[in-house]
Amino acid sequence: MGNYVIYPGSFDPFTKGHLNIIDRVVKVFDEVIVAVAHNVAKETTFTLQERLEILKEIFRNRPEVKIDCFEGLLVDYVKKAGTNTVLRGMRTVSDFEYELQMALANKTLFKELETVFMVTDSAYAHISSSLIKQIISLSGSVKEMVPEVVETRLKKKLLKKRES
Ligand code: ADP
Repeated sequence: MGNYVIYPGSFDPFTKGHLNIIDRVVKVFDEVIVAVAHNVAKETTFTLQERLEILKEIFRNRPEVKIDCFEGLLVDYVKKAGTNTVLRGMRTVSDFEYELQMALANKTLFKELETVFMVTDSAYAHISSSLIKQIISLSGSVKEMVPEVVETRLKKKLLKKRES
């Protein structure tokens, strides 16, 4: 393995904003590990298993993008993975406030940890997982904002929910 970076997140769901960050970061690092956070206390639209399946499908022909998951503290996962570099995306000032706090907290927990920030491409600056869920729940199209597999799976979920 060359130099690699861990990209942690909920990815609930994975969006074209996330994809853009990954497409760009592999030009800087040899590999990226997309690490899906499993937070039992947080209710998610897609289960951990579903989020992993979706990511594996999207990146099935991309050996430079590895898919993994973690539970508990990010710093513990990062240490176990044998690296000290974490990637986060940045869209807005509110992202900055939150991300700065997280980066500083993580550094307090693990001194060697480095958080690398990649600024969103302006075409994706408005895209967030929560916005996607809102649009889908109101029967809107999210075609432009998520990969096809995510759109298909979201629609299925919604249909199931309405039937139950
Ligand atoms: P989390 O719950 O950990 O914030 P998310 O899946 O919402 O997980 O986001 C993971 C990372 O991707 C975060 O650093 C977030 O700022 C970034 N991100 C989310 N959407 C975009 C986007 N449209 N453009 C760039 N970065 C993004």
